[in-house]
This record gives sequence, C-alpha cells and structure tokens, in this order.
Amino acid sequence: MKHVTVLAGGVGGARFTRGLLAHLAVVAPKATVTVIVNTGDDMWLDGLRICPDLDTVMYTLGGGINEEQGWGRPNETRRASAEIAAYGRDWSWFTLGDLDLATHIVRTDLLRSGSTLSEVTEFLCRRWQPGARLLPMSDQPVETHVCLAENIDNHAAGDYIHFEEWWVRYRARVAVTGFLQRGLAAAVAAPGVLAAITNADLVVLPPSNPVVSVGTILAVPGVRDALRGTAARVVGVSPIIGGAAVRGMADACLSTIGVATSAVGVGLHYGSRRSGGVLDAWLIDETDAAALPALAAAGIRSAAVPLWMTDLPTTTAMAAAALRLAVEG
Ligand code: GDP
Ligand code: CA
Repeated sequence: MKHVTVLAGGVGGARFTRGLLAHLAVVAPKATVTVIVNTGDDMWLDGLRICPDLDTVMYTLGGGINEEQGWGRPNETRRASAEIAAYGRDWSWFTLGDLDLATHIVRTDLLRSGSTLSEVTEFLCRRWQPGARLLPMSDQPVETHVCLAENIDNHAAGDYIHFEEWWVRYRARVAVTGFLQRGLAAAVAAPGVLAAITNADLVVLPPSNPVVSVGTILAVPGVRDALRGTAARVVGVSPIIGGAAVRGMADACLSTIGVATSAVGVGLHYGSRRSGGVLDAWLIDETDAAALPALAAAGIRSAAVPLWMTDLPTTTAMAAAALRLAVEG
C-alpha cells in the first residue's frame, strides 16, 4: 500500500482520515495519503474567502481543531466579528473566530495576489503539517446552492441560497427542491486530483456527506471517470448508522435527492463499479448488518463493524477494517 487517496468533506472526512493516518503509520509507514477536499461549501464573507472543509481537514490533521465542535480552533474568541457586527455587517449565522480569521485573511491575500487555491492550501499546510497532501477538488470556485421550496425571511420559494446559509443558518429545516453547483461547468479538477485517483493503490470514500461533500467532488469533470477507471480498489465507509446521519443533517440532503437515509440506500446510491457506480466495497455499521445481503446482491462487497468515530483508537480500527475489506476478495 503506497498511495492512498481520500475524497473528503469536513468533519466526517477529517476524523476518518486521522484514523487512517494512525493505522497506516503502523502497517505502512511509507504510504502517502492524498485528501481531495470538497470546496463546494466555499464562500465569500466580509471580503474573505472561507473554505470550511479544507480548514476542518487541515486543522484536524494538524492538531489545531476544536475537538468538541469538530470545526474551528480551540480557545477561540470572537472580538473581531463583534466589531464587524457593530457596523451592522455581520453574518450572525456564521462564526468567524479571531484565530480562524487569520487563516481566511492569509488565504484571501494570497488568492488576490494571484495564487491558486491549490497553492494557497499548500502554503497554509506548511504551518499545520497535516501529514497528508491536501488538494482542493478544483481551483475554480464551485459553490453549492440550494433551491428553496418555501419563503423564509427575505428569500422567496424558488430562490437559490448558498448551501452554508441553508445548513448553518436554517439548520437544513427549510424544505429545498435541489442542489446546484454554481461554477461546475467551468471548473476542472485541481492539479494532481485525477492523478491521485488514477495512481492510487486504494481510494477511500470516508463517512462524509454523500450529497454535498463526496457528491460535489464526484461531480467535478473527470473525477467520476477517474474513479471508475482506476486500478485501485474503491472502498466507502457509511456516514449513516441505523437510518440516521450520525452527526449533522445529512438526511435532509439525501431526502432532497430521493435517496433513503440508510447504509444500504447510500451504498446503492454510490453503486457498484461493476454496474456504473463507484464502489468496490462498502463498510457499514454493525447495527446495519441486515443490509449485507442486499449490498452483496448489488455487487458491492460489504462488512459490518462499529462505525462511531468516538475516539482515535475506534476510528483507527474503522480505517483498518475499511482497508481489510478493500484488499480481500
Ligand atoms: P461536513 O462537511 O463537516 O458536514 O463533514 P463531512 O461531509 O465530511 O461529514 C459529515 C457526515 O459525517 C455526517 O453527515 C455524518 O453522516 C457523518 N459522520 C459524522 N460522524 C460520524 C461517525 O462517528 N461515524 C460515521 N459513520 N459517520 C459520521
Ligand atoms: Ca462541508
């Protein structure tokens, strides 16, 4: 196992990758890990470019994450955003902590002086040393928007709002009719992204949101084809346990696109590589073991193990089980 590539969103992808790195450190210390990170949640706030998933992965792997929250920095303060609010220009629904602001300021400055997001990410990672190569899925801005099914505040039904506004401000409790990735048609995969999939020995879809994290990366031109064509095995880990999104509101995303919130529903949504999908193998939680025959019938090799990422040892064991499932058979 020399090269492992992960397609990650924020919290779920970051936590899993931490376990993966811990496992590989023992069984394949020379292995390199590339994490292709969703940038569909990126947005401009107060003149700053915010990349929520890249930051979550970078802080988590680099030891700078607020562990309880799963995002942002520990011991954070909000003095700067309180000052912005005093001017009546705040985004009360999105936290911009003082320490976190430094990252956004450095990123925005580099972007404005002509660096690509890939270059900026590499630069930020020089400080955080995440132990894996982090690649944005694309250097072109791609922003996920949702189409509202009902009026809310100053938005009318049929309007599109940024996914983060729906997710963070409205807690995904406002009905939406679909997702739109603005900028996708003009976007190309960032340098190294397609090669990281093609040249991998193993590709992992961690327990990230299947719709707005992994789904958005898969929608970048060339990514799905690279996954379908790679000689590497592709193994996924279910973000759904016992019919519920473990943390967060992924069920609201799945139901919007008509996919059942279940381990088998998401597995079949990704589909078997033998029949046009992207998976060779799919790891589900032990409580969902009843789904194993349906997955096998669909041509997806599966196993059921504990999938709660409660601490590093449990998460490391999950990563080990995913690797085992991928290489056997
Ligand atoms: P986000 O961008 O911060 O929302 O993070 P991701 O897209 O990477 O992951 C979010 C998803 O991770 C959630 O929708 C959950 O379904 C899943 N998740 C979070 N914690 C766990 C866990 O402990 N175990 C499993 N199996 N899935 C989890
Ligand atoms: Ca995200």
